[in-house]
Amino acid sequence: MIEHFQLKLADSRMLAPTVRHLALERADGTPFKFTPGQFVQIHFNYDDGKPTKRSYSVGTPAEGDEVDKLELAISYVEGGAATRLLGNLERGGSVEASGPYGRFCLMDDDANRRYFLIATGTGVTPYRAMLPKIKKLIAERGTRVALLYGARNEEELLYGEEFEASRKNTRNSRSMPVCRAQHARHRARTIAAATCRRCCPNCSPTPNTTSRIYAAIPK
Ligand SMILES: Cc1cc2nc3c(=O)[nH]c(=O)nc-3n(C[C@H](O)[C@H](O)[C@H](O)COP(=O)(O)OP(=O)(O)OC[C@H]3O[C@@H](n4cnc5c(N)ncnc54)[C@H](O)[C@@H]3O)c2cc1C
Repeated sequence: MIEHFQLKLADSRMLAPTVRHLALERADGTPFKFTPGQFVQIHFNYDDGKPTKRSYSVGTPAEGDEVDKLELAISYVEGGAATRLLGNLERGGSVEASGPYGRFCLMDDDANRRYFLIATGTGVTPYRAMLPKIKKLIAERGTRVALLYGARNEEELLYGEEFEASRKNTRNSRSMPVCRAQHARHRARTIAAATCRRCCPNCSPTPNTTSRIYAAIPK
């Protein structure tokens, strides 16, 4: 159910030089209900008073369907209105929000045996939220999961330590960071080539394509 609520900043840290991690709590003290993969909208006014809103993926790793803190990764956008609001929000400060929205989730009735997750920048945020569910799917159904995540450079690879720890601790789980380092570029090309060989003409990868991509991601 979509709700409107105030969020209060409980904590923050810089994840990368241009990305701020915010941990927010509902001001009414109730837990936040969501399915990992969903996003919230932040509502605010432009300087001229016109109302507007921006969407942000919830990144809190969720064991159940409720969390105390709603964690967001806010990327810096030059001249951005929400960037200014969320980049300058101080501890205890509040913003208006609504949500959760979206169906980019690992649904309970999915029967997939394999997931291939791809993201760049703050696009990894929903995958961070999914980590406990991924672990459970692997343990219960033997699901195989591969994550390919990218950034312009190594210091902008978000939540890399958490993805790496999850990969090490979870069998059937692979992940590969890709940035503009020479070596990574070579590996990214390998994967891009594997993707493209079979996806034409309609860009719908076949099961073989997925197998080749999966194999290209190191354990
Ligand atoms: C479903 C969904 C989930 C999202 N999740 C996240 C998230 O987890 N973290 C996050 O940081 N953002 C996320 N976004 C993007 C976010 O909603 C805002 O668009 C973004 O933060 C910029 O808002 P702003 O008000 O700061 O910039 P605006 O005031 O909207 O834009 C300022 C200027 O920058 C340009 N611009 C806007 N965005 C970009 C960009 N990404 N790169 C280059 N130029 C740009 C605009 O065209 C404009 O000229 C998500 C968007 C969607 C739709």
